[in-house]
Amino acid sequence: MARIVQKFGGTSVADIGRIKSVAEHVKSEVDAGNQVAVVVSAMAGVTNHLVDWAGEIANLYDAREYDVVVATGEQITSGLLAMALQDLGVTARSWLGWQVPVNTDSTHGRARIERFDTTELERRLDNGEVPVLAGFQGVGTDNRITTLGRGGSDISAVALAAALGAERCDIFTDVDGIYTSDPRIVAKARKLDKITYEEMLEMASLGARVLHSRSIELAMKHGVCLQVRSCFDSVPGTLVVDGDDIVEQELVSGITYSRDEAKITLTRVPDRPGVAASIFGPLAEGSINVDMIVQNVSEDGRATDLTFTVAQADLEPALKVLEGKQGELGYAALNTDPNVVKVSVIGVGMRSHAGVAQMMFKTLAEKGINIQVISTSEIAVSVLIAEEYTELALRALHSAYQLDAV
Ligand code: ASP
Ligand code: MG
Repeated sequence: MARIVQKFGGTSVADIGRIKSVAEHVKSEVDAGNQVAVVVSAMAGVTNHLVDWAGEIANLYDAREYDVVVATGEQITSGLLAMALQDLGVTARSWLGWQVPVNTDSTHGRARIERFDTTELERRLDNGEVPVLAGFQGVGTDNRITTLGRGGSDISAVALAAALGAERCDIFTDVDGIYTSDPRIVAKARKLDKITYEEMLEMASLGARVLHSRSIELAMKHGVCLQVRSCFDSVPGTLVVDGDDIVEQELVSGITYSRDEAKITLTRVPDRPGVAASIFGPLAEGSINVDMIVQNVSEDGRATDLTFTVAQADLEPALKVLEGKQGELGYAALNTDPNVVKVSVIGVGMRSHAGVAQMMFKTLAEKGINIQVISTSEIAVSVLIAEEYTELALRALHSAYQLDAV
């Protein structure tokens, strides 16, 4: 007998028919003799709808009331799934965040879980009952409903698995696992059997949107074994585990991309101490995240070009800040380019093997693709290239690192 947590996201509970088939999935685990706790998110599209309503009713709404509104999507799913389970003869009941309770801080709209009291849930699990928890929500120190931020039901699921000491946390979604690259672009992409937490975190922050990155951090911290799998079939998905649990680690395990990038270049910036601080300081104050940065050494010792990237949505606000400071910063021109893509090669094997970055540069060069900006982390190399080359670059790199399915 194992204790497992199963989480079902938006598309897997999109309508009544799917909720009924989710109930079958849960029942089969129960029938196999396991203790099962379920976490659900809102039916597909419901949360977006609720968020829109909040925006329509008031431009500057009260974040506490926003949480009251957007948390309701999960309440609906939890009740419906509990009913579907009961209909199949499985003892089940729904649980809202405050009933457990899932205690969070009071940062409404993006609260953090502080304490997850599973005493009552465990008692019921031991009696063969299936708790169906409404994900994404908790109760704040102000005794009001909180939500964990968009996509936050993954966090609820991992936090529950950690608190219950569950053997596994299965995340059911519309993809059947983690792939070496986006299968819609790279036809030869392969499904990975296993991937490390660290690689998964890099993938989440570099463009692959399968798991909420806070849920991966939490799983890594508590050693929760995650499985990403499909609710439409019963084939095993991809396990997200500790590096030590993978015997044969691949050099490179994935190639991701993000189109959500915009490039800004400031030309002829005075080359003197403090200039970077005076540019990036005001951007940070405006909550604008800067990602990749390149600055050249000036030839004449007086002025240099500075290039960096921001998220597309931050382009306009960033320009406002920079234009307002032209006099102070002393640059000659401000150029922007939203038609760029960031392509990243990810793999923990990079730590112990040289030449991974070189392979990337060489492959792109052979295809005549110009690299505009480069950045690296311990287990990833990213380049910024023109958006029109996205497909070409992904496919060429996928082959070069021998990731192609045979
Ligand atoms: N329903 C919430 C959202 O759409 C939480 C989730 O799906 O994980 O953001
Ligand atoms: Mg999600």
